[in-house]
Amino acid sequence: FAPWNDPKAKPYIQFENVTKRFGDFTAVDNLSLTIYEREFFALLGASGCGKSTLLRMLAGFEQPTSGRILLDGENLAGIPPYKRPVNMMFQSYALFPHMTVEKNIAFGLKQEGMPRADVERRVAEMLKLVKLEKFAKRKPHQLSGGQRQRVALARSVAKRPKVLLLDEPLGALDKKLREETQFELMDLQQELGLTFVVVTHDQEEAMTMADRIAIMDKGEVMQVATPAEVYEAPASRFVANFVGNVNMFEGKVAERTEKTARITGATGAQILVENAGEARAGADVAFAIRPEKIRISSAKPDNNVNALEGEVYDIAYLGDMTVYHVRLTDGQVVRAQSMNAARISDDPLTWNDRAWVSFRPDAGVVLTR
Ligand code: ATP
Repeated sequence: FAPWNDPKAKPYIQFENVTKRFGDFTAVDNLSLTIYEREFFALLGASGCGKSTLLRMLAGFEQPTSGRILLDGENLAGIPPYKRPVNMMFQSYALFPHMTVEKNIAFGLKQEGMPRADVERRVAEMLKLVKLEKFAKRKPHQLSGGQRQRVALARSVAKRPKVLLLDEPLGALDKKLREETQFELMDLQQELGLTFVVVTHDQEEAMTMADRIAIMDKGEVMQVATPAEVYEAPASRFVANFVGNVNMFEGKVAERTEKTARITGATGAQILVENAGEARAGADVAFAIRPEKIRISSAKPDNNVNALEGEVYDIAYLGDMTVYHVRLTDGQVVRAQSMNAARISDDPLTWNDRAWVSFRPDAGVVLTR
């Protein structure tokens, strides 16, 4: 499933040069974005980056100041929220406290004038979908947080919208339940064959659930890519820093061949990189490498490529992995981490030991932005 790589795939949701201003504050800035049918799409960004505003414009609760939003080729301008084949699930769930679970789910269907027998059938179907058959007669206050979340979900898909918008859908759940529910949401999306657009500030959540992620900052999209691309090939320093942990070596391209580049840091440390992309000789760049791609050893590596000397400064045992902070001779602190399951012997390194960090020339990316 990768319609974004298929030149023949038809765009489903299109934001075309969309700007949204509140007074003289620009919340969304000339943003263009395409989402495909049945995609699980995540808008990821820090608080205030404009992701909810984008969702609210798609739902019809806000109007763009300029630009267009199309759904299945149709311009949504002037179409009120209730006439859009789009439904939104809020973080607060907005359940009716005095109504039972089944009445909450039935509410929108009845309002639409659906015949009673059909409403009953649909509600039963929805209760089954979210595994709440036994809770039909309870009221929201008699449910756990996770169960309330599922009622809200059932209610928001009961009308069979084509697109479900989810604003921080799991924000109210504790960590463990949130992780479980992420997988449930993915299953549900598959089962229903809907397009999901989820807003979150939680990168793990976006990485887990989404087919593609748009990383936003200050009303702009910084990169749109699959979770693996975002992590392995971030387009900029901002994205590399925003998603996961990263080591960033700032320097200048001292030498360039067709594929490789030699980067010299401010203190003279040299890094050899393969797949240097577009970085030109003389350019200011950053070499970004993830902590798990860095090897740490007490002896200097034999080949001496990209080997930097330092001192072990912190060690944190996290169960599944161990994290090392190594302070290099030039003062930069490097984060290296190794999976504990992969360890074949106890690592002899400890605090204040001399250590070498090293990495392969193809283990990171060169960033020019
Ligand atoms: P959060 O995760 O905190 O919800 P967000 O990325 O979803 O953040 P938005 O809710 O889209 O951010 O808001 C983006 C910016 O626009 C914020 O600075 C916010 O204060 C501003 N904003 C949103 N709605 C309005 C409004 N109705 N009037 C004025 N400013 C607004």
